Amino acid sequence: MTEPFDILISGGGMAGAMLAHQLLQQGSLKVAVVEQQADASPSKSSFDSRSIALSEGSIRLLNRWGLWPLLASCASPIKTIAVSDKGHFGKTYLQSSDYQLDALGQVIEVEHIGTVLHQKLQPYEAQGRLVWFRPDAISAITPSSEVQQIELKSGLSVSCRLLVIAEGGVSPSRELAGFTLQSDDYGQTALIANIGLQQPHQGKAFERFTPTGPLALLPLTGQRYSLVWTLAPERAAELMQCDDADFLAALQAEAGYRAGVFHKAGQRALYPLTLRRASEAARHRVVLLGNSLHNLHPIAGQGFNLALRDIYSLVLLVQRVQATQSMPAQLGDYAFSRAYQKLREPDMQQLILYTDALVRLFSNSSRLVALGRNLGLSGLNNCKALKSQLAHFAMGLTPLQQIEQQLKQPGSAVPVRQTEGA
Ligand SMILES: Cc1cc2nc3c(=O)[nH]c(=O)nc-3n(C[C@H](O)[C@H](O)[C@H](O)COP(=O)(O)OP(=O)(O)OC[C@H]3O[C@@H](n4cnc5c(N)ncnc54)[C@H](O)[C@@H]3O)c2cc1C
Repeated sequence: MTEPFDILISGGGMAGAMLAHQLLQQGSLKVAVVEQQADASPSKSSFDSRSIALSEGSIRLLNRWGLWPLLASCASPIKTIAVSDKGHFGKTYLQSSDYQLDALGQVIEVEHIGTVLHQKLQPYEAQGRLVWFRPDAISAITPSSEVQQIELKSGLSVSCRLLVIAEGGVSPSRELAGFTLQSDDYGQTALIANIGLQQPHQGKAFERFTPTGPLALLPLTGQRYSLVWTLAPERAAELMQCDDADFLAALQAEAGYRAGVFHKAGQRALYPLTLRRASEAARHRVVLLGNSLHNLHPIAGQGFNLALRDIYSLVLLVQRVQATQSMPAQLGDYAFSRAYQKLREPDMQQLILYTDALVRLFSNSSRLVALGRNLGLSGLNNCKALKSQLAHFAMGLTPLQQIEQQLKQPGSAVPVRQTEGA
């Protein structure tokens, strides 16, 4: 019987690999990652050609974790966000200079994050502190009071103090571990592509609400936009078939000219959109992370930002437990799991409500609803306090502060124990 791993992560994608990196910074933890894909380089399905918007809060975390200096040159700052409703009068603008910031967020192609994480994780593999099982997947989980006994499809058998499931939205281990899932198909598909521009974008991001769903253009390096276009599945399939010229003409018609003249389209890809959320964030010696916990609509560009806060919460809890004398036993025990649940629930709940309401409000073509949301957008543009609230929400600073404050209250997040001398 080999020694149990401290933490075993199932899924080595954006959330799982980022967590592994952070955990390995914490002293002597021994970590394993089970990944279904074979390649030794970053998981192709997770670190694909997509771009994501990282909030100011996420940039601060990545900076603290020593990763942002390696990523910054591949990212493009968002200086302004223009929100409009196609064919209606409502508009609002958010500007970084109004909040004394250089940028409201940054846009980066996820493959760059994958490359940096891959480089950073390699030395830990060489030291034997990180073990990859790939291609492999969990076939059975047997919990006991001290460890999780894990059977892998390859026939290997391993154990760990804490199992972290980070397998993305469709997660077989989540079911094996007994979590239930709420799932709501939006009946929409996101079409993504990088779009070349005739003129510089000057750091402007556009979020345009159209009758089929929202269309977002995010500023990328090299005079390009990253497009996320929400469509009915049939229309998305049609747009995948047309040539670049027809595709760009259709996009220009939908987006208008305020974002500039589009002249080049990169590879297109489709993502069917479903809201998924697990009923709990944690159970005894097992926690959910990233899309396995919450799979959001990309309208607000918040899925990975939320995952980074899952990681931050988990790492802070691990640090707390490491500071006690009974670290292995406490890792993932009842108090630990409850603390993670308490840290993640409000942030996740708020973001799901907000994102879901945005999708439904702005995908509704009823005239009355359209009038209401346009009055809302105009009102927002004229009301500094409301705009500031929206900007702070987009910047993701408040939830970070909430996590830190909650952990500062002894006994509230992690119940204080006898062993801690309390
Ligand atoms: C179109 C689009 C635009 C987006 N834009 C933004 C944005 O602007 N900002 C933002 O913050 N977020 C954005 N997101 C969300 C972001 O992409 C996700 O939050 C992020 O990919 C979640 O990472 P993850 O590691 O949890 O899941 P995934 O990326 O799905 O990775 C899961 C990993 O687990 C592996 N795996 C799966 N099953 C198993 C198994 N059984 N055993 C072992 N391994 C397994 C997979 O191979 C993969 O490596 C966007 C998403 C989409 C679709």
